[in-house]
Amino acid sequence: MAETTRLDILAVAAHPDDIEITCGGLMIKMARLGRSVGALDLTRGEMGSFGDENDRDSEASAAARIMGLAYRGNLAMSDSAIEINQDNKLKIAGVIRATRPELVILPHWEQRHPDHAACHRLGYDACFLAGLKKIEIEGEPYRPRKIIYSSYFRNKDYSFLVDISAEFDRKCEAVAAYRSQFDNPQNARRIFQPGVDIFDFMRARARQLGLLVGVEYAEAFTVKEHILVDDPQVMPVSSM
Ligand SMILES: [Zn+2]
Repeated sequence: MAETTRLDILAVAAHPDDIEITCGGLMIKMARLGRSVGALDLTRGEMGSFGDENDRDSEASAAARIMGLAYRGNLAMSDSAIEINQDNKLKIAGVIRATRPELVILPHWEQRHPDHAACHRLGYDACFLAGLKKIEIEGEPYRPRKIIYSSYFRNKDYSFLVDISAEFDRKCEAVAAYRSQFDNPQNARRIFQPGVDIFDFMRARARQLGLLVGVEYAEAFTVKEHILVDDPQVMPVSSM
């Protein structure tokens, strides 16, 4: 799955499993609609408390199959030490040029883990740099049309929510594919936040977001620009 493919959608995240947890429902939904969907992980997760990077590689491939991804790449940057530098920006920009996604999903800028914040900045800058003609990377200049931001829990500035009721179980399956991290309930309660089981967390959060818009489960996303609406009379979600 490492060879590059022309994509409709590319999600970029710091660690294998970030994409599954934050926007796995949307990835699955888009793949089911026939879109070409891919994931780019910046690190191999070698600093994780359980398992090693080889475990994470095979778990990430299994999760990609479950989500129906057409591509999953890994740039093998240093876990828990991702540096915001030009070299790393150009590595990501190279993948953007090679895969030419119209939509890119990046981590929201407000983050608990420094790697997630670094990924936000690197990813945004890479989308810009990929479009510069004279920059020294392979491939034709290309800039994604749209960037949306996903998050674990920190931010509340949601721009829109996506109904993932039909995809929620499969999203949990994709996260469960990281067996070295979440197979043992003891571990699953320690990795994410002390005492919080990852699957309880995902269900509670997706349900809470779903209740805000009258569906069973939802994921939240933020955009930096405004959203243009043609006909407010038919906008979903009742006001009263
Ligand atoms: Zn992470």
